[in-house]
Amino acid sequence: MVWLRRDLRLSDLPPLAAAASGTDSSVLVCFVVDPRLEKSSGERRLAFLFDSLRELDDKLDGKLLVVRGRPEVEIPKLAHAVDAERVHISEDFAPFGRRRDEAVADRLGDIELVATGSPYLVSPGRVTKNDGEPYKVFTPYFNRWRDHGWRAPADSSVPSASIVDPSDLSKTGRIRVPAAPTKLSIPAGEDAATARWAEFVDDGLTDYDSGRNDPAGDSTSRMSAYLKYGNIHPRTLAADLGNQKGKGAQAYLRELAFRDFYADVLYHWPHSLWHNWNRQFDGIDLDTDDKAYERFDAWKAGRTGFPLVDAGMRQLAETGYMHNRVRMVTASFLVKDLHLPWWWGAEWFLEQLVDGDMASNNHGWQWAAGTGTDAAPYFRVFNPEAQAKKFDPDGEYVRRWVGDIDADDYPEPMVDHKAEREEALRRFGQI
Ligand code: FAD
Repeated sequence: MVWLRRDLRLSDLPPLAAAASGTDSSVLVCFVVDPRLEKSSGERRLAFLFDSLRELDDKLDGKLLVVRGRPEVEIPKLAHAVDAERVHISEDFAPFGRRRDEAVADRLGDIELVATGSPYLVSPGRVTKNDGEPYKVFTPYFNRWRDHGWRAPADSSVPSASIVDPSDLSKTGRIRVPAAPTKLSIPAGEDAATARWAEFVDDGLTDYDSGRNDPAGDSTSRMSAYLKYGNIHPRTLAADLGNQKGKGAQAYLRELAFRDFYADVLYHWPHSLWHNWNRQFDGIDLDTDDKAYERFDAWKAGRTGFPLVDAGMRQLAETGYMHNRVRMVTASFLVKDLHLPWWWGAEWFLEQLVDGDMASNNHGWQWAAGTGTDAAPYFRVFNPEAQAKKFDPDGEYVRRWVGDIDADDYPEPMVDHKAEREEALRRFGQI
């Protein structure tokens, strides 16, 4: 059996290659819709997931088995029903996934749960300092990571006849892939991922290094949701980057390393998901009263009166995406100008983002808050107006998302940035 989770593709899929490797092996490919994840994933992430599953089912000629329930119940049930020899997965390193997989392995008894590969170029835990300790700073991690290297894409082509047709099985609890709860601004799935990547390599990669900080230019790869759901593996991207020596390719590889780094941080410090990675910041004074919730609502609605912040928040609410530079600015604003807990913002991002990923998101937030590994020092407070001048000098990005900027009811700046910067420093100073 192959149990898919965050690897919703057929090519370069090591667990499928491993499952089909025996002579005359037949393979059942399944996905378990876990009601806990249905509840906690925003509508866009669910839509992306379900659309990806629908495409996979088509590619498998309708032979993807989808069930709903708790994996530790459903997977052993299916494995026993088909008399599986092994259940193959790609390894999950996040706290929820690790607990889930341990529970499944327990209940499988004699049937082995075999992990082959992971969603990362270098799996969490692999890159350590000489003394075996994990890295807390990105650049030395990155250098080691590059030296460690990764495999070439795997050949996972499997003859259609080897895939078990679940309609020949009884009592599987099979469901249809649920309908997408909302429309997406980018198409989901393996074909869309491959097409987008080819387009970016042709047209965006060379200038990626210089263009990646231009929100209006919108010239980044938009691969994040595809990577999150494993519609494509970063190995496939790295193989193409390896053929290019330019600055763009090097800069792009560094971003893929960031994705691995944050997964590695989460693996070593699981508490950093919802708590300050650096516990020294636990004592900081945060606003959580009714007024704080009002300010939080204004931030979510893109009505702070700071055009770049509002543009980002509206892009997020309308499309489920926000440019990286603007993610940093809006996050800094929530923490340092409004003095709200970073995890409020992280939760809102996860609810809205189509690429919402716990490790990248929550550590991106901790970076902005100054509480994480490698964090921006706490005294570095982004000035939203200076950021706009620097990264959106013609106001093109702002005008695209804040159409009412000249309207009478466009809000005045909700805070005095200079005063709140002082206030943030005062609060940091107290601890
Ligand atoms: P590109 O610039 O084309 O980058 C290529 C790929 O590299 C991305 O798809 C992504 O997989 C990876 N990458 C780039 N920057 C980062 C980074 N800083 N950290 C980790 N991986 C990175 N990224 C997510 O995938 N999911 C999130 O939930 C998420 N939340 C974020 C929250 C905050 C507050 C911040 C500051 C950053 C967050 N990021 C997140 C990182 C980054 O903003 C997005 O990966 C990027 O904007 C996605 O667009 P792209 O694919 O066009 O990026």
